Amino acid sequence: MLGQTKNKTEARITQQGGPHLRVETLSKSFGDVRAVDAVDLSIAQGEFVTLLGDSGCGKTTLLRMIAGFTAPDRGRIWRQDVDVTHAPPAGRRMGFVFQSYALFPTKTAAQNIAFAPRMARKPRAEVKHRVEQLAALVEIDRLLDRYPHELSGGQQQRVALARALAAEPEILLLDEPMSALDARIRAKLRTELRGLVDRLGMTALYVTHDQEEALALSDRVAVMRGGRIEQIGPPGEIYHRPRSRFVAEFIGTSNLLVGTVEPGGLRINDVVWPMAMAGNRTGDLMTILVRPEHLMIEPLERSGAMAGTVTATTFLGATRRLTVQCDNGLYLLVEEPSTNPLPNGRVFVRPDHAHVVPLDQGSTP
Ligand code: ATP
Repeated sequence: MLGQTKNKTEARITQQGGPHLRVETLSKSFGDVRAVDAVDLSIAQGEFVTLLGDSGCGKTTLLRMIAGFTAPDRGRIWRQDVDVTHAPPAGRRMGFVFQSYALFPTKTAAQNIAFAPRMARKPRAEVKHRVEQLAALVEIDRLLDRYPHELSGGQQQRVALARALAAEPEILLLDEPMSALDARIRAKLRTELRGLVDRLGMTALYVTHDQEEALALSDRVAVMRGGRIEQIGPPGEIYHRPRSRFVAEFIGTSNLLVGTVEPGGLRINDVVWPMAMAGNRTGDLMTILVRPEHLMIEPLERSGAMAGTVTATTFLGATRRLTVQCDNGLYLLVEEPSTNPLPNGRVFVRPDHAHVVPLDQGSTP
């Protein structure tokens, strides 16, 4: 699965004669803080990649180096086969959309969008046409005469997007552009953004700390930690096949369990879950991940199931999440359709074995 994804991205990059954007061992420190630590990243033409991670993991610094606003200490940045590491921001053919919109407050929406083409001394009629075209594209054509303070947050962000597109960038860099918007507008705007980027055939690198946004928007998600990319892959792979405990805990809700390898599977306290333990020896300690939706509640005792009692139920709409306190002391989170009959009294929990993911060996939770 991992191999297939890598091959798919690599095939796309090879077919296109190389990545559209490539960074090599890119590094930046501020004093003794290593904000970005030897990051390598290749993005194909037309790909939408998201940098996802907690506050302070280096997302913005990485994006700002690619945009040309922050000078790297080490490493290289390539747009196709052009080395842009030391090029000024305006010479990189990259558009940048900030979290704070950063619109000129004394200019109307139209004047904001017209800024880059005006600076490039494009003919007046061409600028006007471009502004109208972009305004229609981001659906603010009736708001062009308004000043930023006369626009809602969502409308300002649309103007900021149109302003970035007006410079005709090849690559769009977006730093948490939705974070100031409320949840409903954010969901709508991000669907529109993805559609727009696809229609224009652009390559996009998007920064967020919102995992739902990253999973919903991206062709690939790069999970960052401490200035490094911990794992990069399509959303399904990051969610279902995390390569480390950190990624497993960062994305979605997880049950992380430690067991001892036995000939027939993994012993977790009083039960043995049958599973293939390739590369492990009897007696090894092993951590596994089981997502709540891959645990099942059984009304009757059976071998390999953990007995327990439901201590909390959270209604999530189509599903509900149960907290099961097992007799062996473990707590398990189980997600099941909310239409299932509510369990009453003792329950028995077992995993869907096809979805048990082995993680780092020998660690404890
Ligand atoms: P957030 O989601 O909060 O924006 P981030 O993942 O984008 O965080 P960065 O802004 O890249 O993280 O910061 C990475 C690290 O570098 C942090 O420890 C931050 O405090 C530090 N840092 C960033 N910019 C500077 C600066 N100009 N001077 C000093 N330290 C900085």
